[in-house]
Amino acid sequence: MLSLSKDDVRMQATAGNKDEALAVLCDILVEDGLVDAAYLQGLKDRETQSSTYLGQGIAIPHGTPSSRDSIKQTGVRLVHFADGVVWNDAGDKVHLAVVIAAKSDEHLQILQNLTKVLSDDVSDAIANARQADDIIDALNAKKQFIQQARLICLDVPAVDEDELYLQALQQLKAQNLISSIFLPKHEPSKLSHALSCVVLENHPALKGSALAIAANQTQALAVVSATASIDKDALEQAYDVLMSDEFAQAITQGDKAAVLTLLGIDHQEGWVLASVVLPIAHGLHARPATALSELAKQVTGDVKVCVDDGDYVSAKSLTRLLSLGAGMGQTLTFIAKPQTDAAELLPKLVEAVQAGLGDEVVPITKTTRKTTPAQDLADLAALSDTKVDHLPILDGEKIPAIAAAAGLAVGKAYVIKPLQFDYPMTADVPADELARLNAAIDAVKNELTALIADAKKAQIAQIFSAHLALLDDEEITTGAYADIQAGKSAPAAWHGFIEKLANAQAALGNHLLAERAQDLRDIGQKVLLKLLNQQITTAPDSPYVLIKEDLLPSDVANLDPACVAGIITAVGGASSHSAIIARALGIPALVGAGGGVLTIENETTVLLDGSQGWFVVRPDEQMVSDCQQAQIRYREQKRLAGEQAHLPAITLDNHRIEVAANLGNVADTADAVTNGAEGVGLLRTELVFMSHTQIPDIDTQIADYEQVFDALDGKPLVVRVLDIGGDKALPYLPMAAEENPFLGLRGIRLLLAHPQMLRSQLTALILASKGRDLRIMFPMIGRIEEWRAARAILDEVLAEYPHDNLQVGIMLEVPSAAVLASHFAKEVDFFSIGTNDLTQYVLAIDRGHPQLSKDADGLHPSILTLIHQVVQAAHAHGKWVGVCGELACDAKAVPILLGLGVDELSMSSGAIALVKAQIRTLSFADAKALAKQALQCQTASQVRQLTEGAL
Ligand code: PEP
Ligand code: MG
Repeated sequence: MLSLSKDDVRMQATAGNKDEALAVLCDILVEDGLVDAAYLQGLKDRETQSSTYLGQGIAIPHGTPSSRDSIKQTGVRLVHFADGVVWNDAGDKVHLAVVIAAKSDEHLQILQNLTKVLSDDVSDAIANARQADDIIDALNAKKQFIQQARLICLDVPAVDEDELYLQALQQLKAQNLISSIFLPKHEPSKLSHALSCVVLENHPALKGSALAIAANQTQALAVVSATASIDKDALEQAYDVLMSDEFAQAITQGDKAAVLTLLGIDHQEGWVLASVVLPIAHGLHARPATALSELAKQVTGDVKVCVDDGDYVSAKSLTRLLSLGAGMGQTLTFIAKPQTDAAELLPKLVEAVQAGLGDEVVPITKTTRKTTPAQDLADLAALSDTKVDHLPILDGEKIPAIAAAAGLAVGKAYVIKPLQFDYPMTADVPADELARLNAAIDAVKNELTALIADAKKAQIAQIFSAHLALLDDEEITTGAYADIQAGKSAPAAWHGFIEKLANAQAALGNHLLAERAQDLRDIGQKVLLKLLNQQITTAPDSPYVLIKEDLLPSDVANLDPACVAGIITAVGGASSHSAIIARALGIPALVGAGGGVLTIENETTVLLDGSQGWFVVRPDEQMVSDCQQAQIRYREQKRLAGEQAHLPAITLDNHRIEVAANLGNVADTADAVTNGAEGVGLLRTELVFMSHTQIPDIDTQIADYEQVFDALDGKPLVVRVLDIGGDKALPYLPMAAEENPFLGLRGIRLLLAHPQMLRSQLTALILASKGRDLRIMFPMIGRIEEWRAARAILDEVLAEYPHDNLQVGIMLEVPSAAVLASHFAKEVDFFSIGTNDLTQYVLAIDRGHPQLSKDADGLHPSILTLIHQVVQAAHAHGKWVGVCGELACDAKAVPILLGLGVDELSMSSGAIALVKAQIRTLSFADAKALAKQALQCQTASQVRQLTEGAL
């Protein structure tokens, strides 16, 4: 790496022209032993290719690659020509020649640094330099220790230095300045009362520095890269700044603008700034973007926003906000001029974003982020004539599709084919076309206003409000107006412009945001229909299965659940608006079924299973009647079971089994109790954490857990400490991407890597319980060492906060732990079998795999054998066993689990009453015999067949 230092400066050089100057430069390099004389030709050749003039009186002469043979040693010299030398045809004068002899491409770095310098006006300083120091000072003026504002994080909700460290690394990772966030942390040194510094000496993976400042402003941590590639002078300057009183003051005042200024980082001159992580699973799509722009429009001053490292756009423009493509977990940074109403609005904007802008605040998980193979297929099918698109739809055959909204449905097909529009491309009188377009837009706005007033669901009203705001957005209308003025007809201008916007949105590379292109197309189509006086065919009155290429949000909103039995779309993902609304309306739905569905004839009978993800065209009578029977049975069973939800689950021969609830949301506890839960068998605390936009501090956690204890009113609470990793990520906890996340740093492995996080969660649980019945379990325990390490941390906490009504157990979901259950049983108080993961790991089938997950059946004899073993081992040591995976509420599994001796079943609240009712119809003796038989089976389907008679 070449660097510029005082010793390399040569003052008082003179030359009458560029050729003479090059000769002077070459002589200096020769004199210093860097090159031989032949290098001069290389310098000249390079100038012939193009001038090396950089600007502001600086040139960067260097030889051509072929002259590298003349270089003896890599080096750089800064040669000052007080009178200047004309360097190019434009007559620009060079006062400073930075002449480089570089054996490879080292000069590029110099070039980059100098380019940064040039954003400030240093020309006078360079021209008038009298001594070497003047040159170095001028060039160092802009050297930055932290190069981007984004590498400075304020308001980090960190409880300790480790978390600040992680946050700093996360920012570096986001800017591609490190390849992994798992860099070992060296002992930090204290720079001021508030600031510590971790210097990562010569760490090849780190190519930048970052600063994280705690939300309470008591602590800040700089992660400093001190590698060969980092400029030492810049680093020294940075230390001076970091240790200064002004810097400490800027930190403690949380004044990011001052921090940036002190570090010499470009930011909108003097503008105040506020950053916030976007906590909306579907990203900044039309609805929240509308809310944001509406809020921004309340002020007269300019307020801009950017996402991560992108450009700033006006926060008032809905279209611009959408163009940001901000996804969940990305950082929005708002800026505004100080002392304006816009500046005062920044905290409100941050608050509004944190509150989700009207959307649910949930974290994006890896699963929701990634495009599933099935979605890929569906998208491909939509885009091209692929095989998938033309898969023959054979009568009576189950065709797979993406399950979008649960439930069974059967009805006549009502197929809406893509609309065809026919209109002239040009028009003679732009004023007439403008009037037509405005009239059509106004008509649609009126319709939308009426729809908003009539909407029965809040989500539907919100979608229409977003559509209304889109139509109000000048960015949209002015684009179409311009095309009309250029001679296009109103429909051609409107359609063309909307398509352009929608395509840009769809190309954002974020699957979730790309789906928002549909909102634009939806309003586009509505206005177009008005312009062309076209109507969409009306739906039949009798219950039907709606089939469309894709559902526009307004299609779904127009649906009456009483008339629409089910929905199938050719394209789309499970996270599309349509799917969201279908779920909200409780209409069974499939998406991404392929273009072939559009060839289904109207009135054909279609049966679909929105839970399992398949449909059948022209099902035989038996299938239809089975489906109808199943629907009737289900409704009746549910009604009866609900009436007896509070009776215990005792078999005919008097064997009792506990039935508890799986919860991921503390507010649902009371509902679970109402549904008959005898306790909470699995509190998925990672989901509780996910409802917070930042890592909940200990008091927030205590408040959450207290809510559960209070609602349980003495019933036991089994809490699983954070199970992060696999397909579950916390937006505020940086995690390195892994090849196999389910086999990676997940559950207890992650917790043991962050002992402080585990310790604070355990402390919060114990304090919240106030001696009530608390059962803590650790997720993903595979090895006894992991259990003991976790237990040791708990013991440390217990030493400080003793608890005498506490049981400690493990989730049994890793096969190794199941195999060694007899050893674990000596040390734990209980096991809770997580059949979802146990099945995935035993059968080696990704539990979310679109094609394979249907074969990940927890009733496979291999799983039952392990459960049997675990129960035997536990009971031999007087310990209890629960099952908290989905298998626990599978009606076919219940008798077998009962027969295997499981003591507790834990499931989603909605299933509790039904399972309790089912158990009351069973005999324990029969269940044991059934379980014995099941253990002899070879396949899951054999086991399922066995249970037919038992139901
Ligand atoms: C399980 O694996 O069965 C389980 C209950 O845990 P989760 O589904 O949360 O991974
Ligand atoms: Mg699990």
